[in-house]
Amino acid sequence: MRARDLLHPRPEGLYCPPGDFYIDPVRPVARALITHGHSDHARSGHSSVLATRETLDIMALRYGADFAGTTQPAKLGETIDVNGVAVTFHPAGHVLGSAQICVEKDDIRIVASGDYKRQPDSTCVPFAPIRCDVFITEATFGLPVFRHPPDSGEIARVLKSAEQFPERAHMIGAYALGKAQRVIKLLREAGYERTIFIHGALAKLCDYYESQGIALGDLQPATLDSGAKTDFAGAIVVGPPSAFADRWARRFPDPVSCFASGWMRIRQRSKQRGVELPLIISDHSDWDELTETITETGAGEVWVTHGREEALVRWCELNGIAASPLHLVGYEDEGD
Ligand SMILES: [Zn+2]
Repeated sequence: MRARDLLHPRPEGLYCPPGDFYIDPVRPVARALITHGHSDHARSGHSSVLATRETLDIMALRYGADFAGTTQPAKLGETIDVNGVAVTFHPAGHVLGSAQICVEKDDIRIVASGDYKRQPDSTCVPFAPIRCDVFITEATFGLPVFRHPPDSGEIARVLKSAEQFPERAHMIGAYALGKAQRVIKLLREAGYERTIFIHGALAKLCDYYESQGIALGDLQPATLDSGAKTDFAGAIVVGPPSAFADRWARRFPDPVSCFASGWMRIRQRSKQRGVELPLIISDHSDWDELTETITETGAGEVWVTHGREEALVRWCELNGIAASPLHLVGYEDEGD
């Protein structure tokens, strides 16, 4: 068997013919294996879904309990037989519940890593490199220009600014699943003990993280209509980036607009979005983490999925590793 007979792209997503399943399919299928809860990877309407308990819970929170016909939880490190294919979920360090999916048959082992990062993140289990023949990697930040600084330094900049401008609200745009909870946790780890105000779109997921033992401290809704502008003077408010463009944002006093994303490395992007205090905090690997991870897996072949494939494919070739882009469509990560 060749690797491409074990996994290959189809319009629905990455397909395993012997196991008759898809990984992160973008259309409804009979059997889906799902790496993590971001909406472009985890869609509703599949007949059956195999994913970690946390990913299944997150899908139920977002889509309702009937998001799939049947569900099966996968424990990290435990091998499950799917039609004669050995399937094992391993931590990906991306968001709570995120996993790489290792697929093995006839001495060929392929790891589909989904989205992953290597920076420490106390809101999820750290990425574990898995030795494999073929490593499937994302390339969201697959250019040497992308180097994420330590997240503690980025958070320190917010706290310093909040100290300097006590009359202004600091509004941090952060994606609802993963990034928002990580930012809140980082603020706590930096010693910030005051109430943090959150947009309503984050409430369910923050509650869920709390229920999984990730303490986020005192969170209060920032959506109360009765609140006077001055109530939020000096406050830190976290909300999804989309909310910052609408009327909701105008209730806050002279807000300092912050946005936590790997894209904040690019000045033009932060300018375009009117971001005053860009925070380079990403839930994806930067260039160094991508190339180090490829090396650590020992893979002789790399398939590159969504993102900037060309540079990473070229890097592999220069380092004697066969590589090709997979051209999967439908992944626009909400959590970068
Ligand atoms: Zn993701």
